[in-house]
Amino acid sequence: MIPLSIAELAAVVDGKPHGLPAAPDTDPGADPLNAPVTGPAVIDSREAAPGVLFAAFEGERVDGHDYAAAAVEAGAAAVLATRPVGVPAVLVDDVTAALGALARHTVRELGATLVALTGSSGKTSTKDLIAQLLRELGPTVWTPGSLNNEIGLPLTALRADAGTRHLVLEMGARGVGHIRYLAELTPPRIGVVLNVGTAHVGEFGGQDRIAQAKGELVEALPAADEGGVAVLNADDPLVRAMAARTRARVVLFGESGEADIRAEEARLGSDGRPSFTLCTPTGRSGVTMRLYGEHHVSNALAAAAVAHELGMPATQIAEALSSAGPLSRWRMEVTERADGVTIVNDAYNANPDSMRAALKTLATMGHGGRTWAVLGRMAELGDDSQAEHDAIGRLAVRLNVSKLVSVGGLEAAWLDMGAKNEGSWGEESVHVSDAQAALELLRDELRSGDVVLVKASRAVGLERVAIDLLGDT
Ligand code: ATP
Ligand code: MG
Repeated sequence: MIPLSIAELAAVVDGKPHGLPAAPDTDPGADPLNAPVTGPAVIDSREAAPGVLFAAFEGERVDGHDYAAAAVEAGAAAVLATRPVGVPAVLVDDVTAALGALARHTVRELGATLVALTGSSGKTSTKDLIAQLLRELGPTVWTPGSLNNEIGLPLTALRADAGTRHLVLEMGARGVGHIRYLAELTPPRIGVVLNVGTAHVGEFGGQDRIAQAKGELVEALPAADEGGVAVLNADDPLVRAMAARTRARVVLFGESGEADIRAEEARLGSDGRPSFTLCTPTGRSGVTMRLYGEHHVSNALAAAAVAHELGMPATQIAEALSSAGPLSRWRMEVTERADGVTIVNDAYNANPDSMRAALKTLATMGHGGRTWAVLGRMAELGDDSQAEHDAIGRLAVRLNVSKLVSVGGLEAAWLDMGAKNEGSWGEESVHVSDAQAALELLRDELRSGDVVLVKASRAVGLERVAIDLLGDT
């Protein structure tokens, strides 16, 4: 954060200081209104430290207002709240909006380049890749995990300070207008759209609406002559078409011949890791990734496009992509147990695109052992839900995965039915009601050489299965 006084803070967020002691007559300079807030901002009082801004949120179970005193005790320099909290505070109507206003003020004062990315799948993975490339060029701050909404975004921006050169922000879209709002808070100079895909189709009401919402990112970019750059996926027609919606210079990435940043000879190694030749306008270089799954080729190209824009040579980009590891957990985390069973924990989330990508990767990883797909439901698919689950079940058969274990209620059962209806399968597909049943079945059956993929939508919490299986040796 750029340090500011309580009085300045109150002005920026349009709030009223409340409960501050009066300035001593003898020393007007010691007015508590002049006390510095150095940041960053926190919403959990356990993370409070000297100088931070504590923002009190009313959650469903806990109310941050009850913890303001604890935050101040731990050194918080200021509190943002909607009502008096017994300690000095700046009172506002809406803490989310106040944090947003503060983030907007802060990024204006920063000298950093703002990079924002959105898409249906791969935002967090690509954000982590971009961060790993850009931190070789200079101090870089990025969204931790998936904190990509109107609260997480300001919290991330407020972690940047005067020394920050790059601020990398993941932007999630819950509906039309959402990204426009986020991009107003923290206006990016470089905007990346990864894919439109089928995530949240039900919630949004169709792919065109999703494209409409995600394209708001490139609409918000500055014009080309002001440095605006739109990094677009040439292989996704709905993303490619966004070129018409931006004033920024367009940089295309992908495997298509027209892409500026291209992958040639992309292939998935028998260990599930992709390799390709990175082609940029200024050079070519070979990449072999540490990340698993062919979908990371596209993510890597998007990251390469950003790094190339910021002046990194192709050889350095290729080296950094080859050494980049996962920064966020439960995304294709591959661990081999002492007994030779490999667990692939991709349970962070799932949609049809990421299910397909993960299954394809699993299918390459067998090496004589059996491949197990332990899958739960994909949420938010609306009317398409049955067809999408059915298709994933069928794909498991067509990819020659050895076993499908579908976990959960009706939607999981559709996975099982899809697999059984595809033709040749019988006992290869099993449907169980919950994670515990899946664990018991797997514990009985797993043997050395087996590879187990665990994946479902976030709400299913299927990472439990992967974590418990890893604890078994
Ligand atoms: P969220 O909307 O939940 O924040 P996200 O867009 O940040 O998701 P990630 O967390 O990076 O996406 O990845 C989610 C899932 O999608 C993981 O299973 C990952 O392996 C898979 N995935 C990552 N990149 C792609 C891609 N380009 N295409 C398809 N699937 C992908
Ligand atoms: Mg994410």
